[in-house]
Amino acid sequence: MKSDRLSLGSKLKEFEKEFSKLIGSPYAIGVTNGTSGLHLCMKSIDLKPGDEVITSPFSFISSSNCILFCNAKPVFADIDSKTYNIDPEQIAQKITNKTKAILPVHVFGQPCDMKSIMEIAYEHDIPVVEDACESIGAEYDGKKVGTFGLSAVFSFYANKQITTAEGGMIVTKDEKIYKLCKSLSNQGRDNDDLNWLIHNRLGYNYRLDELSCALGLAQLRKLDFILKNREQIAKEYNKHLSKVDGITVPFVDPDAKHTWFLYVIKLDSSISRNKTIEYLRSKGIETKAYFFPPIHLQPFYKEMFGFKNGDFPICEEVSNSVLALPFFTGMEKSDIEVVCRTLEEAIK
Ligand SMILES: *Cc1c(COP(=O)(O)O)cnc(C)c1O
Repeated sequence: MKSDRLSLGSKLKEFEKEFSKLIGSPYAIGVTNGTSGLHLCMKSIDLKPGDEVITSPFSFISSSNCILFCNAKPVFADIDSKTYNIDPEQIAQKITNKTKAILPVHVFGQPCDMKSIMEIAYEHDIPVVEDACESIGAEYDGKKVGTFGLSAVFSFYANKQITTAEGGMIVTKDEKIYKLCKSLSNQGRDNDDLNWLIHNRLGYNYRLDELSCALGLAQLRKLDFILKNREQIAKEYNKHLSKVDGITVPFVDPDAKHTWFLYVIKLDSSISRNKTIEYLRSKGIETKAYFFPPIHLQPFYKEMFGFKNGDFPICEEVSNSVLALPFFTGMEKSDIEVVCRTLEEAIK
């Protein structure tokens, strides 16, 4: 607040530099949120009407909306029943000569099978844009998410592992993509100091302000603690719930490092999720069916594309039976115990 720059100042440069170092990607671009970051990544690969992008129906809606922002077509591929991430075999079946990109989403902090996805991408020479909004610090095969694809997007929304209230970051290994996204985020300018009123392309105001960047820098310093703490909380939940009948605890891929955005359990089909949510709520415990409904069954997607129940059976089965439990950095063991005890009462 005391500095003389509230936008496009030194905090943005510092935050971008620290973030690119953290992920191990050469370039980073601070943006207003994860959604605007995804929009710019889609713009930067020159997505046009009629182009197709393959993505997951089991995600937060903006990972697919960013394709619609460019008037292109999201093509969904069903998910893996254990990781809840897009299934590479399903991706392979959806590739056509209109496929312009693959947009995998690392859901809940669990990285996608990036080895198989990158093999498909190389084989067909298609760029990959990672939605890493929920997975800062996650690793696959010893490599950080965000470094596999051409570009990747992280979010700092209030419920993410680290937050700037609202905010996001694009990372890329490609200098051209970096320059283009930077310009698109800043009204189509190619330079923020000189030529302030020269706009070389149709751009947006997706700049991340200095106050948010200052918050982000402070949060980055706590990231190790935050991720370790969340892992401990997940382990504590596992300890209580892994042997409870009717509950499947989150799967952790042995090839991967999970970073715990949420703790999401799966309920047996014999258990009513709604009744479970209601019972827990009556005891003062808030839980959520996450992600429900899946993207293809959102009202305007059904209307636009004619999607219906049964189109993506694994995604729908998962979506109908998952439940996100209370989960936040600093959650006390005694609170976890209360949640688990009450949950057991509820499903009985
Ligand atoms: C949070 C999130 C986004 C969007 O990020 P915002 O910063 O809220 O715009 C996109 N994709 C996924 C998977 C997310 O969880």
